[in-house]
Amino acid sequence: MIVAEQKDLSELKKMMKGKKKVLAVGCGTCVSVCFAGGQKETSGLAAELSTAVNVDGEDLDIEVKTVQRQCVQEFIEPISDDLGEKDYDAILSLGCGVGVQTLAERYPDTRVLPGLDTQFMGQPVEPGVWEERCVGCGSCVLEYTGGLCPITRCPKQLFNGPCGGAEDGMCEVDQSLPCVWSKIWDNSENLDLTDTLLDVRPPQDWSTSRSGGLRRTVVRDDLHQPFAISKEATEEIEKVEQNTGQENPEDAFLKEMGLMPSPTVKNEKEISEEVDEKVKSEKPEDDFLRQIGVI
Ligand code: SF4
Ligand code: SF4
Repeated sequence: MIVAEQKDLSELKKMMKGKKKVLAVGCGTCVSVCFAGGQKETSGLAAELSTAVNVDGEDLDIEVKTVQRQCVQEFIEPISDDLGEKDYDAILSLGCGVGVQTLAERYPDTRVLPGLDTQFMGQPVEPGVWEERCVGCGSCVLEYTGGLCPITRCPKQLFNGPCGGAEDGMCEVDQSLPCVWSKIWDNSENLDLTDTLLDVRPPQDWSTSRSGGLRRTVVRDDLHQPFAISKEATEEIEKVEQNTGQENPEDAFLKEMGLMPSPTVKNEKEISEEVDEKVKSEKPEDDFLRQIGVI
């Protein structure tokens, strides 16, 4: 999961300068698990921050809303009602960096401020402690290393065994941490990986990592559709479901995200061709006739 922590109150107070009404938006997924930006944390931070600003003699009203996943457009759609009805000076996002950017892209007329510092993809290793496990290098080598990542867990990011500085199984760079290569080797016999580890691995393909710029992935071609699935496509999906009487367990979620796969769903090109055809067949006066209810 993505691990993040709340920014200092002093930094958040600076962001609030000159703002009177702010919407704090929490996220109910990763950042709620690491106690940074879930519903409770968002309400707590909003109260603390508005009190701190009010104590300095300035007005600040912070309202709170928490969505299930801030990084998915469909989940942040309900916020448009709040933004439409009330005049917020800014949104304070308590999502990870992806959540902040999803809000900023969906609501470009409203300033979106980050309430969290996003840290890494990691796992809890003991109560209250999370450790980094993956940097998303785009070329995973866990197959050869017994499930232990040498990129995140070895400060030198070595791929062919330890550097030689490890002592008693501990890393020479930080002696409070185990040398991951000692761990990989110690468990290699168990996993039947010893021979694999003795092979020299070629240099890692870093072109798939951050150094290659913005990364973009089409995970499944059959799911690749424009966001905000059309009403017609949704109706077609429902028709298919009724005819087959079947729904996969994940369909409800995919449908909610606007990514529902269906062989009968039109793709972006088909939809746009259909619209073009319709426009061509219409006469200029059609729009007026439609407005007055004649057609
Ligand atoms: S090798 Fe790359 S993808 Fe695999 S866990 Fe490490 S950083 Fe993540
Ligand atoms: S001691 Fe092990 S984990 Fe530390 S830098 Fe050397 S090889 Fe990497």
